[in-house]
Amino acid sequence: MTHIPLVDLKVQYAAIRPEIDAAIGAVLDSAEFINGPAIRQFEDEFAKSCGAKYAVGVASGTAALHLALLACNIGPGDEVITVAHTFAATAEAIVHAHATPVFVDIDPRTYTLNPDGLARAITPRTKGIIPVHLYGQPADMNAILSFASQYGLAVIEDAAQSHGARYRGQPVGALGQVACFSFYPGKNLGAYGDAGAVTTNDPLIAERVASLRDHGRSLGPDGRRAKYEHTAVGYGERLDTLQAAILRAKLPHLQAWNEARRHAARRYDQGLKGVDAVVTPWVSPWAEPVYHQYVIRTAQRDALAESLKRDGIATGIHYPIPLHRQGAFAKLGDPAVALPETEKAAAEILSLPMYPELSELQAQHILASVRRFFDRE
Ligand SMILES: *Cc1c(COP(=O)(O)O)cnc(C)c1O
Repeated sequence: MTHIPLVDLKVQYAAIRPEIDAAIGAVLDSAEFINGPAIRQFEDEFAKSCGAKYAVGVASGTAALHLALLACNIGPGDEVITVAHTFAATAEAIVHAHATPVFVDIDPRTYTLNPDGLARAITPRTKGIIPVHLYGQPADMNAILSFASQYGLAVIEDAAQSHGARYRGQPVGALGQVACFSFYPGKNLGAYGDAGAVTTNDPLIAERVASLRDHGRSLGPDGRRAKYEHTAVGYGERLDTLQAAILRAKLPHLQAWNEARRHAARRYDQGLKGVDAVVTPWVSPWAEPVYHQYVIRTAQRDALAESLKRDGIATGIHYPIPLHRQGAFAKLGDPAVALPETEKAAAEILSLPMYPELSELQAQHILASVRRFFDRE
């Protein structure tokens, strides 16, 4: 068996090449590379798929988080509660907004924000909470939302890994005040470059983000942005037309791709039954996950990863160093902060290859390799 990558973007492009090439060709022919019609069209279609009133395309998931925080009026002196078990961008965006990230621990089964930690983390400066729907599984939103409403906090979903995931039957993206998506190429819905979106039911937040992404340009009476009138100091964080056109072509496939990921996950779950040293992903009763990653945990993580590598199987660790242990963020917070479940997870988690096109044969090869490793142990 040839090498099995963690994610295979080539095989997906091969399957939808005519649609993608046509979408790219149409943008090239129109030469409307900035603010072309595909952007509004994609925004409308993506908002609908999330059950949100508005989607605003931006340049990346990081930009989505940054501009969403600003649109919620979070700024200097404010604190935002989030997790340390996430990609750096979650906390980076808080710092870009001149606020301070305050880390709480995760639920060791779901790897998402444990609402039990909120009461200890809140201070008079707390303005918002960013739960991360990590690996494609929604966080415990009811508990988070009820805490937030009790204290008047904004809830900003980091849905960068959860396009199409559902929480109690409702898609992520309109569960809190605002949600942030990344279309980084390897995400469940991926562009062919950097791209992101903010979704919300709040017209004020949508308008603020739409202005901020485009240099703070004001909205003219014709519904277009004024070219040289700036009501806010904004950013150059627009979604470009080519990426919007590519995302439009891919969006109709998202559900089937997510279903294929769930199918691959069930195959892994079945195949790892009886391997006592491995903990397979837990699915909360409220969650319909989309398996951005399939993450197992085991005390022999590093040795298992080495062994799989020798068998030509790539693995990943999402993420090996929690943010409160990173040089960039450690100095911002309380040095004594204890996040035992976060640290334990970082030492034991391993992401197996996961993408919609992962074949039965590849899965069997991976499962056989895992079982062989533990048989030898
Ligand atoms: C990918 C990701 C981001 C950042 O998105 P970019 O598009 O790479 O800027 C933020 N948060 C999480 C949880 C992510 O996985």
